[in-house]
Amino acid sequence: MTGKHIPQRTCIGCREVQGKRQLVRVVRQADGHARIDLTGKQPGRGAYVHVKPACWQAALAGGRLAHALKMSNLSDDDRAELQAYAAALPIEDETET
Ligand SMILES: [Zn+2]
Repeated sequence: MTGKHIPQRTCIGCREVQGKRQLVRVVRQADGHARIDLTGKQPGRGAYVHVKPACWQAALAGGRLAHALKMSNLSDDDRAELQAYAAALPIEDETET
């Protein structure tokens, strides 16, 4: 791996395209659970969300995350886990570009 090419991913919360570093991956694991994949390397279908509470709220609220992961629904446990993660994120203001 050369590291020269920066993969671009779309945040499913706000639909902006960004380099992977600003995004956190959620993976649908083989057991059917949606979990945060901090390594970005877990096998399974992945979706990306900004490291911002607002993007997580948008991703979780409209069922977008489940849709992106090709799941009919997130389980209550998975949703609670993801919401807890989102709630712990620092709130950034939007002044930086
Ligand atoms: Zn976003």
